[in-house]
Amino acid sequence: MLHLYDFLAVQPLSREEQKALVYSQAAASAEGWIRGRRSRRPKAFAAKRKSLQGRADLRALTQPDPTKGRGSPKNSRRKTAAIKKDKKILYLCSLIFLHNITLTIMYQTLLYYKYAHLEDAEEMAPKHLEFCKDLGILGRIIIANEGLNGTISGTPEQCQAYMDYVESDPRLKGIHWKIDEVEELSFVKMHVRYKAEIVNSGLYDSVDPTKETGKHLQPAEFKALKDQEDVVVIDMRSNYEHKLGRFKGAITMDIDNFREFPEKIKEMDHLKDKKVLTYCTGGIKCEKASAYLIQQGFQDVYQLHGGIINYGKEVGGEDFEGDCYVFDGRVHVPVNTVNPSVISRCYNCGKKTTRMVNCCNSHCNDHIVQCESCSQEMAGACSVQCKASDFARPYNEKGFYRKQLCED
Ligand SMILES: [Zn+2]
Ligand SMILES: [Zn+2]
Repeated sequence: MLHLYDFLAVQPLSREEQKALVYSQAAASAEGWIRGRRSRRPKAFAAKRKSLQGRADLRALTQPDPTKGRGSPKNSRRKTAAIKKDKKILYLCSLIFLHNITLTIMYQTLLYYKYAHLEDAEEMAPKHLEFCKDLGILGRIIIANEGLNGTISGTPEQCQAYMDYVESDPRLKGIHWKIDEVEELSFVKMHVRYKAEIVNSGLYDSVDPTKETGKHLQPAEFKALKDQEDVVVIDMRSNYEHKLGRFKGAITMDIDNFREFPEKIKEMDHLKDKKVLTYCTGGIKCEKASAYLIQQGFQDVYQLHGGIINYGKEVGGEDFEGDCYVFDGRVHVPVNTVNPSVISRCYNCGKKTTRMVNCCNSHCNDHIVQCESCSQEMAGACSVQCKASDFARPYNEKGFYRKQLCED
């Protein structure tokens, strides 16, 4: 019999295929167990066995049989036997349940970047894409002369092969890979693009994080420092990101794009003598932002190594309020398991929710927080005008229309 994971190494299975596989295996195990005891089974049970196909059927088997009589010693013996049988089946059901849980972790999503001088970046991009397509992974990767930035999804085996491939280039050795276990692939396509910058800051060559950047703080160090006197924490991300979640007490910037941050920093001149801690999703923005702050005369600049995602993994995300926006199909992920909270409110009714959608009007496409019931009512639109627009896309359950997202 072909093992489950042999399948996975060959081709990622869809959620439906995974379920079908689990049920067929469960049914086969149950069938085997029943066959082993067939000689002692009453006829009624044999009839039920025939219809055994999945968990629902297994549950049905645990119900008491109304055709059986009560009272006589014979019946009481039968009853004891039936209870034993039920216990066995319940045990089997829980095994299937556990099997199902282990199956929910089928894929990985990687988030990574590396600032490195890649003179041949433009030629690297098509080769990189070819490798990814051959491997069968999905995701979005940016290659620039200043380095590599990506997020991809695949089976653990595929992800390992990808990491080995990237690290085989000595210039890209030592990447800090942030690995998430996920239930389904986080992307629908595979893109590799050559761009001027790996994260769009508009600063181009004026900052070089490989030469000078803020001091890296491990999550535990960041946690210990962030509430101290004379320390300010600055969120380097855009409005739609910090509205959904941010560190308690952090300074946020009113920007829709990272490109606007150099301009915003001018308003923070009074913080130049403070200890400044910067953070972003995975760390890539802070490499540049902290380098820029130093250039602008900030005296003591630090950055959260690996960003919010790493902070969640290493120290349980303590004091991060709300969810963390991510640049893939998951849209946002919880990071705080210590003192979690919800800070974002529905754009329409004000109810607390972390649900993030795009307005269904493709000409608006605004990224907003919207609760399930408002989404239903508005058919996925942010406003009455957008709902009535000729460009309103049919409402999909997730309320999120895939568009080209990237961390910029
Ligand atoms: Zn609402
Ligand atoms: Zn809209």
